Amino acid sequence: MVKFCPECGGELKMDPSTKNYLCKSCGLFTSIEKIEELRDRSTHDDIDKKRRMHDDYLDWWQSSKKEKQKH
Ligand SMILES: [Zn+2]
Repeated sequence: MVKFCPECGGELKMDPSTKNYLCKSCGLFTSIEKIEELRDRSTHDDIDKKRRMHDDYLDWWQSSKKEKQKH
């Protein structure tokens, strides 16, 4: 089962010798207990905030693209 990083959502790779997880994206190195803890702490507000930020970025990207086409 693939686990995902609670910090950045990146793919986690398990280190068999320590039973800890290493994030391929941000380099987070933590135990499964800590991952569950971080996941429990993150609320729906955080998810909404991240989604909104992503939408804002898409809007900006699309409008800047349109801007370039105009000139
Ligand atoms: Zn990460």
